[in-house]
Amino acid sequence: MKLYPLFADVSGLPVLVVGGGSVALRKAKALLDAGADVWVGAPRFEPEVVAWIEAGKVQGRHGEFEPAWLDGMWLVIAATDDRALNASIAAQAKERRTFANVVDDAALSQFHVPAVVDRAPLTVAISTAGAAPAIGRRIREQLERVLDHSLGALVALAQQHRARIVGRFPDTAARRGFYDWLHDGPVLSLLRQAKPGQAGQALQEALEDERPPGSKGSVALVGAGPGHPGLLTLQALRELQQADVILYDQLVSPEVLAMARRDAECIDVGKRCGGRQVAQEHTHRLMLAHAREGRRVVRLKGGDPFVFGRGGEELAYLRRHGVDCDVVPGITAAVACAAFAGIPLTHRDHAQSLCLLTAHGKDAADTLGDQVSGHPRQTLAIYMGVEKLEALATELISRGRDAATPCAIIENGTLPRQRVMVATLATLTSQARRHALKTPALLIIGEVAAFARQHAWYGELVDDAGHEVGTVPVEMEAV
Ligand code: SAH
Repeated sequence: MKLYPLFADVSGLPVLVVGGGSVALRKAKALLDAGADVWVGAPRFEPEVVAWIEAGKVQGRHGEFEPAWLDGMWLVIAATDDRALNASIAAQAKERRTFANVVDDAALSQFHVPAVVDRAPLTVAISTAGAAPAIGRRIREQLERVLDHSLGALVALAQQHRARIVGRFPDTAARRGFYDWLHDGPVLSLLRQAKPGQAGQALQEALEDERPPGSKGSVALVGAGPGHPGLLTLQALRELQQADVILYDQLVSPEVLAMARRDAECIDVGKRCGGRQVAQEHTHRLMLAHAREGRRVVRLKGGDPFVFGRGGEELAYLRRHGVDCDVVPGITAAVACAAFAGIPLTHRDHAQSLCLLTAHGKDAADTLGDQVSGHPRQTLAIYMGVEKLEALATELISRGRDAATPCAIIENGTLPRQRVMVATLATLTSQARRHALKTPALLIIGEVAAFARQHAWYGELVDDAGHEVGTVPVEMEAV
């Protein structure tokens, strides 16, 4: 079966839905949304349809189907649960040259209702010609993920300025170039940044400009999450699929990088040369250079760009140099590792607050001490801490934190090689040494860390059975 794709303007046209169940209701709703003059016929109606009829939104035909219901109809949808009746409605509709759709029966239908991705006024419709609607739905889900929600606003804006765009670019090739700019350039970015006024202004200015707009480079600071590709946000995925250049950190997993646009240039700026990372200034300059060449640059960082990621410095630098920049948050290591280790970061009985800390930097242990003194019911999530366990544990104990306080280290959190180790402040260092835990690893200190012993559900748990791990709460209650 080969179908002719068609988007129909049914506004104000009489259309009929036969059936009183939930399917009929859904079809009637879609037709109402499209502005059709909807008639619904059945012996009994869903309460919602009754309300519509009473409110005059749709017209009701009460009773068994009669051929006269088809008079004057442009379309009919047969949505009864009686196959023979559906077939007879379709046959009579055909005789009257009225297009008929029989729900879930491709062979009896003159027209099919596609699966739809709605970014009105942009609509993507998918059909498998009835061959495998379930696959059509899968494709719809994939498109839902990649199509930015701001596209609707972009298309609406283009529609609003259509006459001027055609007037300004009578040549079709030039016009196509302008639409490319509209999609790839600052206008869509501004819409994504929830600045419709500025987007409209950028479009107007481009139309008034003597020269057609060239593509202006921009940067997105994107959080790649903790490594598991499923923990990437939809927006991060879209950015990866639109990037010309990707500057990525050491913590970004190959699985995440594999989701990028095939011909994007991927540059590793997290590589350690002789034990030292590529200098931050070098990364700054690279971002700037690529953006100035008109490229879409994605600066891809592990976890969240604004949590121990120096994202703030990068944003300030780009702003200072006049580069358009947006930020896509990512799931930070503390949140991801805790979840994958079965550790609730806050808990009604054990932890009322959460502190994200880093052990990196020369005064880190002191700062840490200042932060935590007087907060026994606070969970500490410590980044970059595995190399400093001894100093950290000593400092916390000397500041009054109980040596029996439970601790967990999550190494390679969310990755297939994840290991979780549970210990106490007193045993932390020796245990970590024994299991040879390495970076990247996140340290969680506080009563809640003990939950990992019972609830870690991913990867390996390397606690020694029977080893003292502090109080293990029996049941996890409301978190
Ligand atoms: N911006 C990142 C943090 C970068 S600092 C974020 O928001 O997560 C680097 C530190 O993060 C590592 O030393 C480690 O402590 C932690 N980290 C990042 N990814 C991790 C992972 N998958 N497992 C465990 N720790 C991780």
